[in-house]
Amino acid sequence: MRIILLGAPGSGKGTQVKILTDHFKIRGISLGDILRQEVKRNSPLGGKVKEYMQEGLLVPDEIVSLVIEENINNEGFILDGYPRNVSQAEKLESILNNKNLSFDKAIYLDVSENMLITRLSGRRVCKVCNANYHVKNMPSKREGICNICGGELIQRNDDKPEVIKKRWVVFQKENASLMDYYRQRDKLVIVDANKEAEEVFQAIVKNFNYGKHSCL
Ligand code: AMP
Repeated sequence: MRIILLGAPGSGKGTQVKILTDHFKIRGISLGDILRQEVKRNSPLGGKVKEYMQEGLLVPDEIVSLVIEENINNEGFILDGYPRNVSQAEKLESILNNKNLSFDKAIYLDVSENMLITRLSGRRVCKVCNANYHVKNMPSKREGICNICGGELIQRNDDKPEVIKKRWVVFQKENASLMDYYRQRDKLVIVDANKEAEEVFQAIVKNFNYGKHSCL
């Protein structure tokens, strides 16, 4: 199974990647998470991408495509956060072709702008293990503390209101043509992602013939 997950920041890609990877035992490749780890480690790559990320801007294509190329092998995957524009989609196609691989579907998680703002501004992430929470919808058992590893929960810098707005503008600028790209190739599936995570998961797996599933 190879899936590309598309959607605005806050559309629930991270949550669905977690559910889908646990369920199907395949690898999730989250470009944003990989880049954040590099920034945290102060690696040369982290140094190159840090400012773009803080500003809510896209990191240049030639940098991110190398990261993707390194992370794709012949195992199944769920790709989250890449591609974000048509030139990245073309690059992905050539990376997959060179490795003799194909993918099943590009799933677009469709969410209203209001829902995105609510989700992003309430999102908290664990500083240590990256687990995601939401102050209202998915609070941790102890406020500010990760259920999984006991790490501190923080708000991502790019989840602050002024950066959220910028990320939304960046997203909209590229998204329509990206969706057309996959629609023309008969790969696009649009899923209503304003609903609860379990319902969204069910709507995603309906597109694959693997029987009945539950993420709970
Ligand atoms: P995310 O966690 O997916 O919202 O990504 C966080 C940040 O990482 C983005 O705001 C970009 O700065 C960078 N980033 C993630 N994916 C990409 C991509 N496909 N192309 C360029 N930059 C990206």
